Amino acid sequence: MGVIERYKEFLPVTEKTPVISIEEGDTPLIKADPIAEIVGPGYNVWLKYEGLNPTGSFKDRGMTMAVSKAVEEGSGAVACASTGNTSASAAAYAVRAKIKCIVVIPEGAIALGKLAQALIHGACVIAVKGNFDEALKVVIELTDKYPVTLVNSINPYRIEGQKTGSFEICDKLGFVPDYHVLPVGNAGNITAYWKGYKEYKGAGKIDSLPKMLGFQAAGSAPIVDGHPIEDPKTIATAIKIGNPASWKQAEEARDESEGLIDKVTDDEILEAYKFLAGKVGVFAEPASAAGVAGVFKKAREGFFPPGDKGKKPKNIVCVLTGHGLKDPDRAIKCLESPPVVDANLEAVVEAAGI
Ligand SMILES: *Cc1c(COP(=O)(O)O)cnc(C)c1O
Repeated sequence: MGVIERYKEFLPVTEKTPVISIEEGDTPLIKADPIAEIVGPGYNVWLKYEGLNPTGSFKDRGMTMAVSKAVEEGSGAVACASTGNTSASAAAYAVRAKIKCIVVIPEGAIALGKLAQALIHGACVIAVKGNFDEALKVVIELTDKYPVTLVNSINPYRIEGQKTGSFEICDKLGFVPDYHVLPVGNAGNITAYWKGYKEYKGAGKIDSLPKMLGFQAAGSAPIVDGHPIEDPKTIATAIKIGNPASWKQAEEARDESEGLIDKVTDDEILEAYKFLAGKVGVFAEPASAAGVAGVFKKAREGFFPPGDKGKKPKNIVCVLTGHGLKDPDRAIKCLESPPVVDANLEAVVEAAGI
């Protein structure tokens, strides 16, 4: 069952809405003790592994809603600008809906796995000589002038679908986390999670709210720096966005929850990326690691108050937004290549250091 069927009472759907689903959601919440040890005693850390959605990122939660509503409204085509994962998701859901999908990407700035997905799902992929923000501008114009539905996160149905991530976290834990950590790019997801928590509280399903901790990449941190970034730079391509569409909503989530939005350097992102894979056993793409890098940074700064002995531990949930296999080049680039030896036992034993 996908997220629409599971959470329809919280979503703007009716009996008439055609549910276009690839069984998204219900992703694992993985306990990550090696991270908790760094945060300090009295803390549990959980990873919401969104890389295990059908197209490998959280974008599927929003796309099932956006495409279902597009079909309900009689649309024959969807379009998006994308740093990669939105296009992969839109392309797959358009296949399920039997409608056309147009994807506009910044030339040369998309991770290999994501481009492969959009292409193999048969989307019409167009690369523009510009960055994400410029690609989005073109797509907004296109969908204004032509009968094509915009499925970027400015489409309110995307936010509606994505808020189901909060429901799942509360349902699985049986309580509300103290801190909710995630990377921030176009800021749709922080908006969605905060909306989800507030609605679950409004419905009496939970009785408190988490502090929202969002992290941008240092070279691409408009919300932290307080102004749009002309030419954003970061290896975390999924959050390489200089002028977030949901800027205001992200600030509201931060302020209402008494949380924060901070930035982490590419080196810090890569350190967390390698830590997740090498110490926790979970492979997430670099943008996803920005949240965990943020937890490490805040732990170093003494942000998390020490837990009380004998009291219930505090809980931090980090959303790992996309799968590591999306961007295999990055993993290869930041590690040493394997040694090449002769094909005999002696040579392999020696190289393995047994
Ligand atoms: C889209 C995306 C983000 C950023 O989410 P926003 O809603 O744009 O803030 C982060 N990580 C991954 C892997 C993504 O695909």
